[in-house]
Amino acid sequence: MSTQTVNAPQAHDSMFEAVLARLDVAAKLMNLSEEVTKVLRNPKKEVKVSLPVVMDNGKIEVFEGYRTVHSTHLGPSKGGIRYALDVNADEVKALAAWMSFKCAVANLPYGGAKGGIKCDPRAMSVGELERLSRAYAKAMKDVFGVNRDIPAPDMGTSGREMAWILDEFNKVTGDDSPGVITGKPIAIGGSLGRDAATGRGVMVNTLAALKKMNLKPTDVCAVVQGFGNVGSHAARLLSEKGIKIVGIGDHTASFYNEKGINIKDALDFSAKNKGTLKGFTGATEIAHDQLLLCKCDVLVPAALQNVITEEYASKIQAKLIVEGANGPTMPEADHIINEKKIICVPDILANSGGVTVSYFEWVQNKAGYYWSEEEVNTKHDIKMELAFENVWNNATTFKTSMRIGAYISALQRIEQGVKLKGSY
Ligand code: GLU
Repeated sequence: MSTQTVNAPQAHDSMFEAVLARLDVAAKLMNLSEEVTKVLRNPKKEVKVSLPVVMDNGKIEVFEGYRTVHSTHLGPSKGGIRYALDVNADEVKALAAWMSFKCAVANLPYGGAKGGIKCDPRAMSVGELERLSRAYAKAMKDVFGVNRDIPAPDMGTSGREMAWILDEFNKVTGDDSPGVITGKPIAIGGSLGRDAATGRGVMVNTLAALKKMNLKPTDVCAVVQGFGNVGSHAARLLSEKGIKIVGIGDHTASFYNEKGINIKDALDFSAKNKGTLKGFTGATEIAHDQLLLCKCDVLVPAALQNVITEEYASKIQAKLIVEGANGPTMPEADHIINEKKIICVPDILANSGGVTVSYFEWVQNKAGYYWSEEEVNTKHDIKMELAFENVWNNATTFKTSMRIGAYISALQRIEQGVKLKGSY
C-alpha cells in the first residue's frame, strides 16, 4: 500500500466540509461521476426541533433536537442519536454522511442518518432525561420509521434512552414495531451481542490489520483512549486476544503501565465507580494529553472526535491506529499519518461493528426470531473481515490510504444505488 496519491486536505472550520474534502479526494481517484458526487454532497433531509421540557425544579428548559438523513439510496437511513453539549447542525450533518459511508462499507442495506440533542446528560436527572427523550421521539414521529429511518445509541445515550424513544414513538404512532430503533435492551427486542459490537468490530479490524502487517497479537501492545461502550469492550476483547493493553483513559483520568493493565480489574473498578476510571490503581495516572502519545504499537482512539490533530499526529508512536470513535483524526492530520506510514483503519470501517449488529437486531425484529450470541458474533466477524478486505484491496488498487480506500468502497456501492434508483 502506498500513500503517494493522497493530497493534504485544507483545514476546515466545518466538520461537514471536512467530510466533503475526503469525499472529493476519493471521488476524484475513483472517477466518480460529478452527478453522484453532487447528490452525496447534499443531505436528503435536515430537521431541527425545539424541545420544551419541565425540569425537576419545575422550570421549563428548551433543548435543540436534530435529525439529519443524509442518504437513502441503499435502503432506509440508519444512525445513532447523541446527547452532548456540542451537538449542532453541522456536526449532525457530518455524522449522518459518515453513517451513509459506514453502512455502505459494511455492505448493509441502509442509507445514513444521525440525530442529537444539545444537552449535558451527566448534569440531568433520570426523570429529566426520560422527558427529554420522549419529547424528541414525539417530535420525530414523521421522520423515524421501521422502513424509513432507524435510530440507535451514540455518545451519551444507551439502551435506556432507546427504550423510552421506542415506547413514545409507538404510543404516538399506534404502531408496535420494535425494529424502529436498535440498541434496545434485550428484554424488549434488543440483540445479544449488540452492546459489545462496536468494540468487537474494533478488535476484528485490529487483528486483520496486524495480520497484513505480519505482526502477532501476542507481540504487540495497545493504548485505548475512551472507556465507555466502545473503548471498554475494545480493550477487553483485544486483551482477550493476547494484546497487552498499556494505556487506558476516560474523561476523568488516563493511565499507563508498560507491563500491561489488567482490563478485568479496570472494568470492575469502573463498574463500582459510576462508570469512571478516576482512582484506578492498576497503572500510573498520566496527563490526558499524553495518552495518545504513549509508546505502543496500536492506538485505539475510542472517545471523542478531532483528538488527533496535526501536532499529535507528528508525535504519535503507534504503527497502527484503529478508529473506534467517529472522526477522531482531523483531516489536516491525515497526510502526516500517511507520511509516517502509520496504517490507519478509519472510523467508517473500524467502528462499523455497532451498526452491523444493529442491522442484525432489525432483521431479528422483523422476523420475530432471535439468534444466540454466538450466531450474532460469527455473522458479525464474517461481515467485518469481508469489509476490511474490500477496503484493503481498494487502498492497494488505488494506491491510497485505508481511509480513502474505505470511502471508495462506500462510494462504489452508493453509486450503484444512486444510478439504479435514478433522479427526477
Ligand atoms: N452510533 C453508532 C455509530 O455511529 C451506531 C449506529 C447504529 O447502530 O445505527 O455507528
